[in-house]
Amino acid sequence: MPTTLFRNGTVVTAERSFAADILVEGETIRDIAPTLPVEAAGRVIDASGMLLMPGGIDAHTHLDMPFGGTTSSDDFETGTRAAAFGGTTTLIDFAIQAKGTRMRDALDTWWKKADGRATIDYGLHMIVTDLGEAGLDDMDSMVADGVASFKLFMAYPGVLMVDDATIFQAMSRTAKNGALICLHAENGGVIDVIVRKALAEGKTTPIHHALTRPVTAEAEAVHRAIAMAEMAGAPVYIVHLSSEEALNQVREARDRGLPAFAETCPQYLLLSVEELARPGFEGAKYVFTPPLREKRHPPKLWEGLKQDHLQVVSTDHCPFCFEDQKSLGRDDFTKIPNGGPGIENRLQLLYHHGVNEGRLGLNRFVELVSTTPAKLFGLYPRKGALAVGSDADIVMWDPKADHVISSRTHHMRVDYSMFEGFAVKGNARLVMSRGDVLVENGLYHGRPGRGRFLKRAARGGAWN
Ligand SMILES: [Zn+2]
Repeated sequence: MPTTLFRNGTVVTAERSFAADILVEGETIRDIAPTLPVEAAGRVIDASGMLLMPGGIDAHTHLDMPFGGTTSSDDFETGTRAAAFGGTTTLIDFAIQAKGTRMRDALDTWWKKADGRATIDYGLHMIVTDLGEAGLDDMDSMVADGVASFKLFMAYPGVLMVDDATIFQAMSRTAKNGALICLHAENGGVIDVIVRKALAEGKTTPIHHALTRPVTAEAEAVHRAIAMAEMAGAPVYIVHLSSEEALNQVREARDRGLPAFAETCPQYLLLSVEELARPGFEGAKYVFTPPLREKRHPPKLWEGLKQDHLQVVSTDHCPFCFEDQKSLGRDDFTKIPNGGPGIENRLQLLYHHGVNEGRLGLNRFVELVSTTPAKLFGLYPRKGALAVGSDADIVMWDPKADHVISSRTHHMRVDYSMFEGFAVKGNARLVMSRGDVLVENGLYHGRPGRGRFLKRAARGGAWN
């Protein structure tokens, strides 16, 4: 079996940082020790001055996803390649059950999208739009197939939204089968009324996307989601949390000992609502849900990450090109495809603005971008860990590398960056997935189709 030895690096896990060598044999980590013999290794990589971290896990991406008459512009080939460049070696994407069909149909569809294209390993959440007759039993079959989490929408009425009865039933089922319910928490009914009023008043520009989705609509839905989970005796995970008021709901629940979890995304930590008011139609680049918020929110979200009121940072990567996709909503903000690109920049942004700027410790950084998503979504310790027997998903991180984020140099298949011109210090120097070097010194060595579907484990209620 091929072997690789990382020498003289600093190993960084969610728990601690220490000087050590790492020996990789085949697809897994064979040994971690202060000094390992060089002679035994096929390849020796000098990791002096570098951090060795478990590969990033992005638990929220939308590759090749149909939305509003178009499709997100990264497929599983381009999206997973861009992820690898940024140090992410695992992602969890979303299969979408179409109303009136079985979840299994959606799973087959998404397997086909990924098959032969993914270069990193991937799991799938199942978006449930319709429980129908067989839906609850179908959830059990999904868990058996390794789809150990479900997403339901409290927003987008008529498209993705389900009612409280459906959410409560699904939660009650996961209380038994050990899966995790993820919620898009915004009050879709109320938002719909506000949106129709705005359109009737001729308010059609991108900024109205944000102005029609109040913070209270998010906080109310987060509160309701947690209350239903409590009644069902199930854990709950809030996706893309964006505001202080929503965060307060999660914090209060956790203070009461409830298994409530939430993620946020770099855009909510680093950008604010002013972006949507850019001249011309430029604001459309920042149209996604929940919307960007006022400047008072990001410091609260950073504090939430530090205090463990928020547990995960994902991207909600859902790219649409500005020229020919975002432009669908030029005359009506409700027709702008919702989503933004970010799969490549998550570690760079969180490392620079978190670790370098003193908001997060290094171990907490690893916990947020890799270890906790692995634990919550049933991948640990195969993923999210640097330990003997774990998959050799290793990022060799150069803490001194300077990088300027730009659409001119990024690898995502989209014609703009939400973080254009952001200068960061710290970047992936080498990215390994199951023993294969995918990226080294800015060069790509990956291969479409080498990425595998990950059967994830249900936690069986063992939350901590
Ligand atoms: Zn999403």
